[in-house]
Amino acid sequence: MRYLLPEKGQFYKANLHCHSTLSDGNLTPEELKKAYKEHGYSILAITDHEYMVDHTDMSEEGFLMLNGYEMYVKDMMEPELSRFYHTTHLNFIAKTPDVNKHIMVDPRFMRYATRYHAVEDLPRVGDLCTRTYTVSCINRIIKQANENGYLVFYNHPVWSREDLTDVMQYQGLMGMEIYNHGVYATEGYASDDAQTYDTLLRMGQRLKVFANDDNHNKYPFGDPLCDSFGGFNMIKAEKLDYETVIAAIANGDFYASTGPTIEKLYMEGNKIHVECSPAREVFLRTEPRNKAKNRIPHIGTRAGEVITHAEFEVLPEDGYVRLEIMDHAGKKAYTRAYFVDELL
Ligand SMILES: [Zn+2]
Ligand SMILES: [Zn+2]
Repeated sequence: MRYLLPEKGQFYKANLHCHSTLSDGNLTPEELKKAYKEHGYSILAITDHEYMVDHTDMSEEGFLMLNGYEMYVKDMMEPELSRFYHTTHLNFIAKTPDVNKHIMVDPRFMRYATRYHAVEDLPRVGDLCTRTYTVSCINRIIKQANENGYLVFYNHPVWSREDLTDVMQYQGLMGMEIYNHGVYATEGYASDDAQTYDTLLRMGQRLKVFANDDNHNKYPFGDPLCDSFGGFNMIKAEKLDYETVIAAIANGDFYASTGPTIEKLYMEGNKIHVECSPAREVFLRTEPRNKAKNRIPHIGTRAGEVITHAEFEVLPEDGYVRLEIMDHAGKKAYTRAYFVDELL
């Protein structure tokens, strides 16, 4: 038996994309921490737009704050074209709490941080510069972020409206959001970006998957348009400290969810097994079409039944496999893609 999510440790619930009053969110960092703690989370990254702030002084026993920020590039700056631009939004999560530099600082994008500091005074890498919406510029940004202590993942593909033939050329991304609760809850975008994930995997990007809130909290908790507590990551780690949790994220020791939980994920022989909270359906996704020989890639239930365990044979030609678990409310958990060279 080989564990894909580590056997040891425990799961910590995390929201890794979130906005506070330091940029365009409605809640202060303290209010966000309190709300997420009360909702059973153990990890929160406040990732304000273009503003890297150290929040680790709010960490406490049982609750870990990770540092990070969200950066962006877009192809049109004119506000009247704001419904049409293509944009890249990247989440930067600091690998250590002392990482504090802003990457490729273009003064045009720094409208929140400059409420508090002159743009020249912000800690940064390199000179002030002009960002362009080009693959080469975006790759320089990702490279610089990786070299300066950040994990970099790709936010809300469905909202960004990029050409996937551009995205497939981005180098150095460690993951993408398969679910972003903000764009779903407040703007009604598709409930997941699974097709984008499969497309990018097929194009050769080895990405992990996140589900985040991207909450701005313009609506109160409990409101149908509230963007908190909808997408989360369950990170399995032996300790709740900065270094251990970052290592678990970098290693892909987590799954993304909007509801169901995964208790165990492992290989036994050539079969992948999942044990999960009571579910209605479990789906196997692979690089080619998923039906093969005697394998049925979709396990369903009759009325009143539930699934808490599923297994699928993994075939060498699968390229990668990943699982989706759907509960009776239609909410889903997503494993990352595991490539057959990791499994067989
Ligand atoms: Zn964004
Ligand atoms: Zn955001």
